[in-house]
Amino acid sequence: NTTMRIPELSSGDELSELTSEFNHMLDKTQRFVDAQSSFVTDVSHELRTPVAVLEGHLQLLNRWGKDDPEVLDESLKASLQELQRMKYLIQEMLDLSKADQIEELYAHETTEVSGLLKEIYNNFKMIHPDFSIVLDLDLEDETYVQIYRNHLEQVLIILMDNAVKYSEKRKEIHMSASKDSRFVNIAIQDFGAGIPEADRKNIFDRFYRVDKARSRDKGGNGLGLSIAKKLIESYHGEITVESSVGSGSIFRIDVPLAIQKEEAPDPDDDND
Ligand code: ADP
Repeated sequence: NTTMRIPELSSGDELSELTSEFNHMLDKTQRFVDAQSSFVTDVSHELRTPVAVLEGHLQLLNRWGKDDPEVLDESLKASLQELQRMKYLIQEMLDLSKADQIEELYAHETTEVSGLLKEIYNNFKMIHPDFSIVLDLDLEDETYVQIYRNHLEQVLIILMDNAVKYSEKRKEIHMSASKDSRFVNIAIQDFGAGIPEADRKNIFDRFYRVDKARSRDKGGNGLGLSIAKKLIESYHGEITVESSVGSGSIFRIDVPLAIQKEEAPDPDDDND
């Protein structure tokens, strides 16, 4: 890819400053266009599989569906499942593209984090009774972080869902949270498959899966962690992973503590 450029002028006058500023803008635009076009390539690639599967089942239905109740039943079920999968994929791609506007839309939102963690802990215990889930909170009850509640919830659910999906033998999850002077630190640890070192730096890229077939079997599309990273970073937080194959993974997220608001003036207190 070659970027368009305006030749820089040698003198340090206003015009050369303008051209360099303009070139800077062109670079930025080019990077944006590159990112958009690789997004479109990735998306088309990812949609190809479900579309092909769906097409296969519709062809079966068309040929034998009228006479063979078994084909009718199975292919209809499989088609619906594939459509469901595409629906999730499209929703997640929308989430990812909307994440660019977070800073302007949600920067002022705050969330009480210990309540949210307890809620997620209770929900996961209920949905996955075969898992032993532990919650270890080293936080006061009223701890606020600078992030929109739905977004933090979405990130935690992505990490918890993965912990469940990629733990086959030892079904155990440790959730914990503490804080330092600037951040709330949340950790979600599993004792499952783990992630090979070579893949660790890529798992936050969109559509990246260590094992495509396995992830697809479990309903995955490789977008979860890229959404989690984009959301957390939009709020100036950080998400990292430590993992070892065969013994499990720990995903850590640091979310900025809410900026202490000035005491709002009491509306009954009018001193005029
Ligand atoms: P997916 O929909 O495939 O789960 P994600 O973006 O959430 O997509 O994760 C990307 C990949 O990272 C997964 O396909 C899986 O290979 C790996 N991964 C994520 N979380 C874990 C985990 N807790 N343990 C092992 N592997 C994981």
